[in-house]
Amino acid sequence: MNGLVAVVTGGGSGIGAACVRRFAEAGAKVGAVDLTPGPGIVTADVRDGASLEAAMAEIAAVHGGIDILVNSAGISSVGPVEGNGDDEWARVLDVNVTGVARASRAALPYLRRSRHAVIVNLSSIAATAGLVQRALYSASKGAVHALTLAMAADLVGEGIRVCCVAPGTVDTPWVGRLLARTDDPEGEKARLAARQPTGRLVTADEVADAILYLAGPAAGATTGMSLAVDGGMSGL
Ligand code: NAD
Repeated sequence: MNGLVAVVTGGGSGIGAACVRRFAEAGAKVGAVDLTPGPGIVTADVRDGASLEAAMAEIAAVHGGIDILVNSAGISSVGPVEGNGDDEWARVLDVNVTGVARASRAALPYLRRSRHAVIVNLSSIAATAGLVQRALYSASKGAVHALTLAMAADLVGEGIRVCCVAPGTVDTPWVGRLLARTDDPEGEKARLAARQPTGRLVTADEVADAILYLAGPAAGATTGMSLAVDGGMSGL
């Protein structure tokens, strides 16, 4: 990763924060973008294209370009299909799906100038597994998977690769918040761990390392692919 510049949306927490750390350890220069301000964070909202354009311009000016975009910013939604109204559907799709398109649009002028250009998106096991109480969230992550394939097809001729990862349940603040809303957080955590054949939650570093691989030169022949990081949930 030496000499490469990576931008990570949602870089302030969970999988995004793990990417910021692991990419830096691998020698990349990293720009963390997040809605929530924090040390080393460039503040932007993936619902706001102008804020993303300003963030990309700032990071490219500081580091001399952008080679890699990791779209990790996302929000959860719980419930069956009738559990959320139109406003909630619009809000979650705006962040999880259109947000990926917006950040990619903002980064593409810089990626086009790179000789090692890659976009890695965060899909989910929810895109393909039929999880209960996740209608809207699953729809959003299925759309991210489809968007990844379409972007890969459009950009392959320009030498830009686009992949996604599909994690199972990852031990991040996000899952902590979901567990805190249940009657039995410890029991629910054990149930989520048991759902994955490895018998434990995935770590944020394990997802970040899969993203690091997809974004790196070792994956130079891989585009339009989703890599499962789900403790065997989809494969076994
Ligand atoms: P997290 O809540 O720990 O981190 C998400 C980050 O995104 C936060 O820092 C938040 O401030 C930021 N964010 C939210 N809305 C934003 C916006 N509008 N603009 C800019 N930033 C915004 O969550 P996480 O668990 O690290 O999840 C990261 C990604 O991984 C999400 O896309 C999620 O769907 C996906 N994912 C997570 C899991 C899991 O089990 N944790 C599993 C599969 C996929």
